[in-house]
Amino acid sequence: MPRPIQATIHTESLRHNLARARAAAPDSRVWAVVKANAYGHGIELAFDGLRAADGFALLDLDEARRVRALGWRGPVLLLEGVFEQRDLELCSRLDLWHTVHCDEQIDMLATHKTNLPHRVFLKMNSGMNRLGFTPERYRSAWTRLNALPQVDEISLMTHFSDADGAPGIAAQMAVFVAVTRDLPGERSLSNSAATLRHPEPETASDWVRPGIAIYGSAPDYPDRCASDWDLLPAMTLASKIIATQDLQAGQSVGYGSSFTATEPMRIGVVACGYADGYPRVCGTGTPVLVNGVRTRTIGRVSMDMLAVDLGPLAEAGQHLGLGTAAANEVILWGRSSQGTVLDIDEVARHAGTLGYELMCALAPRVPSLAD
Ligand SMILES: *Cc1c(COP(=O)(O)O)cnc(C)c1O
Repeated sequence: MPRPIQATIHTESLRHNLARARAAAPDSRVWAVVKANAYGHGIELAFDGLRAADGFALLDLDEARRVRALGWRGPVLLLEGVFEQRDLELCSRLDLWHTVHCDEQIDMLATHKTNLPHRVFLKMNSGMNRLGFTPERYRSAWTRLNALPQVDEISLMTHFSDADGAPGIAAQMAVFVAVTRDLPGERSLSNSAATLRHPEPETASDWVRPGIAIYGSAPDYPDRCASDWDLLPAMTLASKIIATQDLQAGQSVGYGSSFTATEPMRIGVVACGYADGYPRVCGTGTPVLVNGVRTRTIGRVSMDMLAVDLGPLAEAGQHLGLGTAAANEVILWGRSSQGTVLDIDEVARHAGTLGYELMCALAPRVPSLAD
């Protein structure tokens, strides 16, 4: 029997979450953002659940190739554009649309030989100060691109830094609208947080770009959680209890003896550790589901194992039968066989991070399959 850890990618949840994004922006087309190997879900495993998207947005050229290899003939957008001249050949060959965020990318296009002019998304730095032309330089970049025979259609794009929180999007919206008012072309502005929290048609525009929401994590947790947005977890990380220990008061668990029992207790040892992508920084008290019952981790997470408190199971009248197929299911995040859900966002919070980081960090050694 292989080590009993498994990631399951829920096709129906992806479908549902994509439909939620679409419902939030009913007049827009939807890019399913599948960068970082579909946020750790695996592009090939997620594809079926996301095929109702209008296009796939990503940034790695090899991932673009993989989307085409799946038979996707619709739009594919490179969110960071090309990194060197020869990437443009792949764009021509695979019909990839690409972001243009700097002068060097326009220089590369100007010397690119192609019979098929490219569709580009011209990116404005409206305040995030990562990628894009400043508002002052945006129009001259547009004029320069528009004069190139290598360019067919220019779409206009920006990215919000605070769509998930109180600062909101108003300041960046004002900049973008003022600079682009009389420019032709389609617009794309909204990530998940903007799509859900700022659904005004002007913000939703022609294309929305949800990522995290389609994977079932709330873009604005803990302000809202996934169920508030009617999002379903697209990834379940499941394992099993492979041993139990009965602790007496005063006995401790794991490296560093960071947890010491104050009374007799039964613990389960789970086949999941930081080498599987479970954060080592999660301390005692991180929520976990055992046979659908919510309990907590105890002690330090080690490379291949972690420990859980079995007290709540006994209270729920559950008896563990080690080695039986159905029993001893441990859900690190996602959905249990009993239907109970543990939000990845909640676990992430115990690690001082976001659901994004946990799903992207699922380790390659964890076998994954789509249901
Ligand atoms: C990653 C990314 C998105 C998606 O962001 P989420 O917060 O996951 O919805 C949208 N647009 C761009 C440019 C991105 O890089």
